[in-house]
Amino acid sequence: MSDIVEQFEQQLNEREREQFVTYYRMLVEWNEKMNLTGITERSEVYGKHFWDSLVIRSFPEWKRYAAHRGSVLDLGTGAGFPGVPLAICFPSVQFTLCDSLQKRLRFLDAVTSELGLKNVSLVHGRAEDLGRDKAYRSRFDVVAARAVARLNALLELTCPFVKPGGAVLAYKGPGIEGELDDGERAAKVLNAAVERVETFELPEGMGTRSIVVVGQRAPVPPAYPRRPAILQKSPL
Ligand code: SAH
Repeated sequence: MSDIVEQFEQQLNEREREQFVTYYRMLVEWNEKMNLTGITERSEVYGKHFWDSLVIRSFPEWKRYAAHRGSVLDLGTGAGFPGVPLAICFPSVQFTLCDSLQKRLRFLDAVTSELGLKNVSLVHGRAEDLGRDKAYRSRFDVVAARAVARLNALLELTCPFVKPGGAVLAYKGPGIEGELDDGERAAKVLNAAVERVETFELPEGMGTRSIVVVGQRAPVPPAYPRRPAILQKSPL
């Protein structure tokens, strides 16, 4: 077995280990029928998807909200990253996984029932619409999003869901520096602020990643999020 899989599994209990094994198996199987991930080799999935998704575990914001059995939205979850790995490891935290693509949710529906994840609900829709819906607006302690949009556009999509005092955790690849100025400006408009950027290395030279931590200071002004076409054409 490769080192990374072994190292990863050492940090898990037996239930979690089995859940990740099943998740990996389903990801590879379903990926033959629909486009879920470009990565299927086992150690790469464990490093670049599972390990990466869980990196926020050590963040003070995460510890604070997870300890209070907070609620987390994973926006643009795709095949379930970072939401499913987090939901496996934090069974007392409530997760909502959202995506605008119905077929990805069909996969996630199968995964959550096969894994027996009771702390996950799935929502089909666009952030631009759900962010105006009372049932979702300002309802979450943490909104996590990985590889969804440039930081300025991403904040308009995510901040409306965060309770004041909560945080957006934006999972980013290398080269985040070029997004920060625009992101900081967008955050200000949305009554939020970029608090810090945590940069880290994936195991076994799998690459550099960053997490941008954004604090929501006050409710997002009612004008946001704007309609999809406008949001994309002239991001904040
Ligand atoms: N977070 C996953 C998927 C990234 S791909 C991962 O890191 O692997 C981006 C995903 O975001 C796609 O599944 C896409 O359907 C979804 N998405 C993009 N824009 C969205 C929006 N405005 N509202 C909801 N989902 C969106």
